[in-house]
Amino acid sequence: MKFTAPTLVIALLSGLFSAGSDAHAQNGGGRVSSNSTSRRGLPTNAELARMRAEVIEKMKESRASMEKLLAIHRQNSVKLALEYETRRRLLERELISKAELREAELALEKTVKDMEQLKRWIIEDDIAITEATMRDELLRLPALARGGYSESGTLVRFNGGGQWSLAEAPKIENFFTQMFGHALPITAFGQTGTHDRLRFDHRNAMDVAVHPDSSEGRSLLAYLRQAGIPFIAFRGAVAGASTGAHIHIGQPSARN
Ligand SMILES: [Zn+2]
Repeated sequence: MKFTAPTLVIALLSGLFSAGSDAHAQNGGGRVSSNSTSRRGLPTNAELARMRAEVIEKMKESRASMEKLLAIHRQNSVKLALEYETRRRLLERELISKAELREAELALEKTVKDMEQLKRWIIEDDIAITEATMRDELLRLPALARGGYSESGTLVRFNGGGQWSLAEAPKIENFFTQMFGHALPITAFGQTGTHDRLRFDHRNAMDVAVHPDSSEGRSLLAYLRQAGIPFIAFRGAVAGASTGAHIHIGQPSARN
């Protein structure tokens, strides 16, 4: 990666480095301590609800820590970008060695990479929290007939008539890459550690960090509908706020 300050400094300050381009991103396993499962057999609905609430609470705490860490990295990256620019000028005047410039470049690259990873984790958490908190609302909605479509202020649902499995994911990824020139930002592919902790069956679904009302989101939903692929598009956990907005491709998670 080559940097040109001050464009880089401006980019860092404006938070331009977006997450989500890394398909099949890490699923964030191990960042939230896992809850022990009931040893008395299957937990009751009340136990499940309490357990999920605890997991969500822990995820929110870990998310807040990541936000703090991100802010520190952001400050640090600005300092490192300025240091890089200073050294670049010194090298031009042959006052330092190339190795010294490279050292500053590597430090900056590392911080930028760490920031991108943190942003991906935060987005993954937001998406999982959104699915978890909207689960009850989703389960209360009338089931859709095969091929049925419904839209509300918070959700868009489509019960595709075709056969869907994760094996079809490459087809969707190809469509998206050809259409938009970058990888489909998959944040969860199938079951992840987070879904295990939440006791969600996400084995045959994937989450994509695309807002359903963006131009990319609208194209993707249109594609999924014509291909008969089921989805639930979340416009955000809170009406009017886009945090956690994403498209869940596949059937809704099973009840337990
Ligand atoms: Zn999902």
